[in-house]
Amino acid sequence: MCYAIPGKVEKIEDGTVVVDYFGEKRKAHNELAEISVGDYIYAQGGLVVNKISSAEAQSILAVWKETFFQLQEVDLKLSRLNLGNQDADQKLLEVLDKASQSQKLSTEELLYLLDLKDKKKVELLFKTANFLRQKYFKNSCCVHGIIEISNYCRRSCQYCGIASYNQELKRYRMTKDEILQAAKEAIQIHGFKSLVLQSGEDCGYSIDELADIIKQIKEKTPALILISFGEIGIEGLEKLYQAGARGLLLRFESSNPVLYKKIHPGMDLTSRLDHLRKAYEMGYLILTGGLVGLPGQSKEDILNDIFLSKEQHAQMFSFGPFIPHPHTPLAKEDPVAAQEIIKVLAVARIIDNTHAKILVTTALETLNQEALRGGLLAGANSLMLNVTPLDYRMLYSIYPDRAHQSEGSIEQIESTVALLRSLGRAPTDLEAF
Ligand code: SF4
Repeated sequence: MCYAIPGKVEKIEDGTVVVDYFGEKRKAHNELAEISVGDYIYAQGGLVVNKISSAEAQSILAVWKETFFQLQEVDLKLSRLNLGNQDADQKLLEVLDKASQSQKLSTEELLYLLDLKDKKKVELLFKTANFLRQKYFKNSCCVHGIIEISNYCRRSCQYCGIASYNQELKRYRMTKDEILQAAKEAIQIHGFKSLVLQSGEDCGYSIDELADIIKQIKEKTPALILISFGEIGIEGLEKLYQAGARGLLLRFESSNPVLYKKIHPGMDLTSRLDHLRKAYEMGYLILTGGLVGLPGQSKEDILNDIFLSKEQHAQMFSFGPFIPHPHTPLAKEDPVAAQEIIKVLAVARIIDNTHAKILVTTALETLNQEALRGGLLAGANSLMLNVTPLDYRMLYSIYPDRAHQSEGSIEQIESTVALLRSLGRAPTDLEAF
């Protein structure tokens, strides 16, 4: 099972390759020395991951060829937009018409969209975002695997079930061999081309140990490696980049400094943004975003979260719902409705038409089983499948009853592929050319 389609290199120019996918041209950044015109490669997150033999590529492409065009047709059909034919109020139609033409919306117009309540109006917002997603990203959808290597954390974020204050939780830390084995299975058996390694801010691994793990994964099994270990310091980021990590998943959760401090005791928004900025300068792909539905959060805060993600050069937006965990100080707060998050994804797509991929988080799926489909039909084009060994998965309890927490990797993959096919999405993963 593969989560990317091999493409043929048509042109190489200053570290960038132009790749052909059944006639569609995409660009990717290349760091591999051995790539020549005519080679077949896999790419993820806009980076060339590895080269494969022409014979292997031809056999995969033969299987995909017919399917690829069928999927495109399904996607085109599902993303058609006809605002002229809609029975909706004039203001909404005018704002969405502007958005569909990629015109910049004012803050007032964006807040108006975030505030929509009426089901039909919200549906029209989702359709417009899906139209924009199709226009600029076509039917590509990236599928990352994620391995949660440890649930130890030194922080005490007020919403998080694995925060240090939660004494009820059984803690685990995967050994190096367990991590290498899980990565090998994800990449070699399940076909992931992109893998996120995640943990709490765990002082149990040294940066050198993490670097060694990343290096060994890269040597044995080529893949795009993204890290999500919290604030590991600028030197830590540099070392892990040298070891081969190329993406950083680090959400700032709230762009409002007062709210940030309230939910992150002892932490400071400036330090988090500094990590993101320096990581971007080093060459990391940035995956960031916020928590939606936090107590005391306003619609303006949420809009600023989207703006801040864009300012941080996010290559992928990650916005997840606040879900109260019973062993946190926010246990008695209300969770946010799935539709509110999907609205945020749709508005994010309107704000960033062309650059950022948008993730449907597992947390959103936890709120509502249909949310993955809903998010993908409202501008999102990325998802992550949890490939943490089942013995540990239940213990990474950042919020309760997580979706897929007891589901094997194969089941998850099969249901995801079936969903992607029903929506006409193909697992290509390159910058739109
Ligand atoms: S949100 Fe991250 S840093 Fe905060 S307690 Fe949870 S795992 Fe630790």
